[in-house]
Amino acid sequence: MSGAGERMHSLIRELYPVCRSITGDGLRATLHRIGQEIPLEISDVVTGTAVYDWIIPDEWNVRDAWVKDPSGTKVIDFQASNLHLVNYSPPVSTRMDREELLKHLHSLPEQPDLIPYRTSYYRPEWGFCLAHRDLEALPPGEYEVLVDSTLGPGALSFGECLVPGASADEVLVSVHVCHPSLANDNLSGIAVATELARTLLTGRPNLTWRFLFVPATVGAIAWLALNHDRVGDMRAGLVLSGVGDPGRLTYKRSRLGTSLVDRAVEHVLKHRGAGEEVLPFAPYGYDERQYCSPGFNLPVGCLMRTPHGEYPEYHTSADDPSFVRAEALLDTYSGLLDIAEILEHDRVYLNVRPHGEPQLGRRGLYRQTGGDACLPGREQAMLWVLNQSDGSVSLLDVAARSGMPFAVVRQAADELVAAGLLTEAEALCAS
Ligand code: ZN
Repeated sequence: MSGAGERMHSLIRELYPVCRSITGDGLRATLHRIGQEIPLEISDVVTGTAVYDWIIPDEWNVRDAWVKDPSGTKVIDFQASNLHLVNYSPPVSTRMDREELLKHLHSLPEQPDLIPYRTSYYRPEWGFCLAHRDLEALPPGEYEVLVDSTLGPGALSFGECLVPGASADEVLVSVHVCHPSLANDNLSGIAVATELARTLLTGRPNLTWRFLFVPATVGAIAWLALNHDRVGDMRAGLVLSGVGDPGRLTYKRSRLGTSLVDRAVEHVLKHRGAGEEVLPFAPYGYDERQYCSPGFNLPVGCLMRTPHGEYPEYHTSADDPSFVRAEALLDTYSGLLDIAEILEHDRVYLNVRPHGEPQLGRRGLYRQTGGDACLPGREQAMLWVLNQSDGSVSLLDVAARSGMPFAVVRQAADELVAAGLLTEAEALCAS
């Protein structure tokens, strides 16, 4: 497990310098790098394609961008940080005075040492971002500005990794891949999703797992438009975003609110007992907005650590690889393994000897001396499973009602099945 934390952090450090966007070579390079870790099918949707109410935009690529002050010194340099250039800036090569230049500059007076992250995808206007301290130090005079970018017909790319399971019922894990040098906001999700896919690929899961690496919003909408006939198999889903900061795990419910994934994540967070938080659904945030739009209304929630916008590093140059911790990535990953165990193994069982308690001692399932005031967890779990399993209640329901962890309840059910006291009522994957 500790190897996994370092592996995830190392992937983040490697991908950090790449200038990503919702289209372009940086996005493709990122998908190809993920494809070296797990099998990834990369799709291109060409510029101009209508996807529901959206149109795939022109593709954006950058060779260089800078601003030179009156002395000819580069005072803003894309090569030093890709955050310096407003994402989707169209090409420009011009001269102007300081006052005119200021109209194109973005800074954070409240966080004067940090470079903000800004985009202009759908109304491309060139601009630069810089630390407010550096902006204030710009001398008067004539400046030279170069944005050596291209904006033209191309494609939007996304990646998919399918982990085939015994059942065609699917679990979706979706992460955005469109932010440039930002570590927690997008690279952490990429790293954790990649690690989870790698783990699931080593076995044969019960459910089919689909990992999506998509540019935010328009990428998720494009995937939905191209795969609308497929979403009927989706039983549960999670958007992962901001999963490597030192904060605690947070879950935002799906629009449905009480679907299997909602109950599974809430159960796992509750038993981790570190004050993790569950938030109601809201139609802003990450791509859960698309999966939970009313035309789809899929059971997809959002797993994060500190919610976006609630940490000062959010969308600034301080969201760098040092802000993301291997331990936090590992903590998210281990939480996901617990969630996956529930999604994979929640079942409805039937007690085949429901008239009175079956005699567990005779079957070697119960301690031989009576009178103990408190039953060991394993025996308590068996009594809960036997009592509740009337063919209408799943193991996750039993876990919730008994207050016991799902893993303990599942273990008890396995033992009861082996002893012939319990039988599966139906494969349960209902939302
Ligand atoms: Zn973001």
